[in-house]
Amino acid sequence: MKASKTARPRPRPQTKPTHEPTLVLPSIAWVGRSGWGGLPPLTDGAGANIWLLRGTEFDVLIDCGSESGNPLRLNRRLRAVGSARHRIGEIWLTHSHTDHSGGALRWQERYPRLRCRLAEIGCDFLQRGDLRLTGVAMDPHSRFIPPRRPIPVREGEVLLCPPWKLTVVALPGHAPDCVGYRGEVDGWDVMFTGDAIIGDQGKVRGNVGWLDGLWLSDAPLYERMLAAATRHPPEVMLPGHGVPHAGATVRRSLRNCLWRLKQVNAIPSAPSMFPFYRNT
Ligand SMILES: [Zn+2]
Repeated sequence: MKASKTARPRPRPQTKPTHEPTLVLPSIAWVGRSGWGGLPPLTDGAGANIWLLRGTEFDVLIDCGSESGNPLRLNRRLRAVGSARHRIGEIWLTHSHTDHSGGALRWQERYPRLRCRLAEIGCDFLQRGDLRLTGVAMDPHSRFIPPRRPIPVREGEVLLCPPWKLTVVALPGHAPDCVGYRGEVDGWDVMFTGDAIIGDQGKVRGNVGWLDGLWLSDAPLYERMLAAATRHPPEVMLPGHGVPHAGATVRRSLRNCLWRLKQVNAIPSAPSMFPFYRNT
């Protein structure tokens, strides 16, 4: 673990899942997840991890799950970590997949001034009624109502949740609209990574987001993105599914994700076998 820049000791990240919401750091809480990976579920259905970033003026949700994003259902969990649904000023989506973004409209209906942010390419798809990036076409029974007027974010843009400032990082490969949010929180260099970098989870090393041509996965681009991320690892990584990582497990997870994509891309004549393979 790196020494703090200041004399004050840094709080140690809590990465163990329990049956209750977890304060990973004083300003970051794990308030929602499905039973993905055998973890004790906090929310119903198939929703992704829902992270809470606590600010002084308002709080932010990073991803909001699917049905589990229902504000009424999440309120008890928010209160357990010192927040409340009326404090949620913004939702920052890591990508359009419905298990991450499907609950956003519920929040907007309840709190019309709430701002919902999504990568520019995801906004473009939704605006023209193209739902490929949401993943709903995988399941004929699933329904997706897109967020209302999502605000596009771009690589390098700085988002504020005072006193915290996080930078938008493009993490394409799983889907073209995958972004991370990275910045210093409670003295740690943290990054919310969505499905782009899930990392080591249980017995599986280097979990990555599913590859599928339906949502325009790009395996070679994914590998290049992971190679770059491995060169500049954050200290704390908060993925869209599974447990968060801190310190050495961040670096190991990144190396293993890169190893996994290298394996995929090393398959001879892969473009003839996989619909997701794009020869970029
Ligand atoms: Zn996804």
